[in-house]
Amino acid sequence: MKSYIHIYTGNGKGKTTASLGLALRALGAGKSVFIGQFLKNGDYSEIRMLQKMEGLLETDQTLRVEQYGEPHFINRKPGPEDYKAAEKGWMSIKEGVLSQKYDLVIMEEINVAVHLELIPEDQVLELMRNKPDDVELVLTGRYASEKIMEAADLVSRVDEVKHYFSKGVQARIGIEK
Ligand code: ATP
Ligand code: MG
Repeated sequence: MKSYIHIYTGNGKGKTTASLGLALRALGAGKSVFIGQFLKNGDYSEIRMLQKMEGLLETDQTLRVEQYGEPHFINRKPGPEDYKAAEKGWMSIKEGVLSQKYDLVIMEEINVAVHLELIPEDQVLELMRNKPDDVELVLTGRYASEKIMEAADLVSRVDEVKHYFSKGVQARIGIEK
């Protein structure tokens, strides 16, 4: 089956959860999945559940979940340790794509990592070009670059029509994290 490249971007809520929904669907179909979360490091409920799901896989199925961020990164300017974490993550997920061990590879928040220049856009474009035919690739996060969107087969932009964040509602466990 031919596979494609998806981008989930925009300022509204639903990018990460869309990619996780796709992971759930793929896992249900017996596919192997690799999820690498850039910029994140912490206790997310979805990671917790994915870890429990590892016990439910078929024998020939693999689920790999990794985080490539420093804690509380988002509130400050990137420092050397953030570059190092992003680069290490990039090497790991790139190897995962090229290994063809996974049917679905999700690069969570990679658009933001590129936007912050933690990962060179050229390297992402190169991997998009050289992706094995049978690996479905998903890139999520706000601020997807024009070139990256152009190189993808599917681009969904989630618009923010309203968000309770503007009323001061912080991320809630089980809903946003
Ligand atoms: P979800 O994980 O619920 O699918 P997302 O991946 O689309 O959301 P991100 O851009 O990754 O959203 O941002 C998530 C974090 O930013 C949340 O903790 C949320 O509280 C905060 N936030 C602030 N404004 C928004 C907005 N307009 N849309 C989504 N999240 C927002
Ligand atoms: Mg997100």
